[in-house]
Amino acid sequence: MNKIIQVTRSSMPDFEEYIEEIKDLWDSHWLTNMGVKHKQLEVGLAQYLVTPNITLFTNGHLALECSIAAFNLSGEVITTPFTFASTTHAIVRNGLKPVFCDVNPEDYTIDTDKLESMITDKTSAIIPVHVYGNICNVQEIEQISKKYNLKVIYDAAHAFGVTVDGIGVANFGDASMFSFHATKVFHTIEGGAVTYKDASLSKKLDDLKNFGITGSESVEYVGGNAKMNEFQAAMGICNLRHVEGEIAKRKIVVESYIERLNGVSGIRLCKPQTGVKSNYAYFPVVFDGYKMNRDEVFEKLKAENIFARKYFYPLTNSFECYKGRFDVEKTPVAKYVADRVLTLPLYADLAIDDVNKICDIILS
Ligand SMILES: *Cc1c(COP(=O)(O)O)cnc(C)c1O
Repeated sequence: MNKIIQVTRSSMPDFEEYIEEIKDLWDSHWLTNMGVKHKQLEVGLAQYLVTPNITLFTNGHLALECSIAAFNLSGEVITTPFTFASTTHAIVRNGLKPVFCDVNPEDYTIDTDKLESMITDKTSAIIPVHVYGNICNVQEIEQISKKYNLKVIYDAAHAFGVTVDGIGVANFGDASMFSFHATKVFHTIEGGAVTYKDASLSKKLDDLKNFGITGSESVEYVGGNAKMNEFQAAMGICNLRHVEGEIAKRKIVVESYIERLNGVSGIRLCKPQTGVKSNYAYFPVVFDGYKMNRDEVFEKLKAENIFARKYFYPLTNSFECYKGRFDVEKTPVAKYVADRVLTLPLYADLAIDDVNKICDIILS
C-alpha cells in the first residue's frame, strides 16, 4: 500500500530544542497563569506581527469568543459562511445573530459590494475572514465600518505573518484573531491570540480569559478559562525561531503545484493578491467544469492514500445545529465554491515528488 499523505503535518522543532526550552519549568514549577514563557512569547509575537497590543489564549476559538465579548456587541454581526465552524459559533455563543454576507468569486473573502446592503439598525460589528490567507478588502471594510460606526474583528486564523504593502495583517480593523492550532503555519500545539488597536482592552481580555476575575476579591465579568499554559508557550517560542524557514519551504511546494495545475481547463487556482506577501497556508483548488468533479477527485486521491480536504464544506449556515435558521441560497457564491473546492496536501516537508504524484493523479 502507498504511504499515507495527510492534508497537513505539524511543524515541530528538534526534540532537544523543546526540551531545553521547558527545562527551567522544573525549577520554577510555574506551569500556567501568565508565566515566563507566556510573557516571552507575547513579546516575540508582538514583534513578529508588528502589533502594539496582543493577548494570548489557549486556542484561537476562545480568543475570538473573548474578543467579541470584550467589545460588548449586541444584535447582529455580519460575517460569511465560507469559514471554519469556529467563526459562526463564536458569534452565536456570544448571544449574537450572525447575518451571512456572500463571498466574492476571486478570493472567497467577504463580498464588499454586498456588505453595505446587509447593515441594519441592529448591526454592531463585521467579522470577516481572511480565508486561506487571502486578505479581505480591508480598505473598503474600513470605510463602511467608519460610515456606520461598526466594530471590525478579523478572523485571521489563516493569515499568520501575511503582510499587505508591507503592513502586517494584525493592524487592520479593531481586532484580529490568530489561531496557533497544530495544523496552522505557526503553532503552539493548541493556542491563539488577539491583536487589537485599543490598548485599554488589554486588561479586559486578560480578565475574560481568567474567569472574569478582576482583583483578589472582585469578579466583574462572566469570563471563562482560556489561558495559554507554559508548555504551549514554549512550543511557540521554538516554532517562532523557525517560522520563516517553514514558510519558505511551503512556498516551494505551492510553486510546484502551480507549475503543474495552472492553466488546466476546469481547474481554478487562487490568483496571488497584489501587494500581499503570502504565508502559503493552504492550496485550494476549485474544480469547475473539469472532467472529474470535486468529490471524484477527492475519492481518487483517497484510493491512493492521499487525503485532501473539502475545506470549507459544508457552509456554516447549513450546519445541522442551525437548521431552519439561515438560508443557504442567500450566499450562492459561497455555496458554489464550497461544492467544488478541495484543499490539497500542503506542509513544509511535503516532498516535491509527492506533489508531482498528487498532480499526476488529478491530471490522469
Ligand atoms: C483554525 C481556525 C479557527 C479556530 O482556531 P482554533 O485555534 O483551532 O481554536 C477559527 N477560524 C478559522 C478560519 C480557522 O481556520
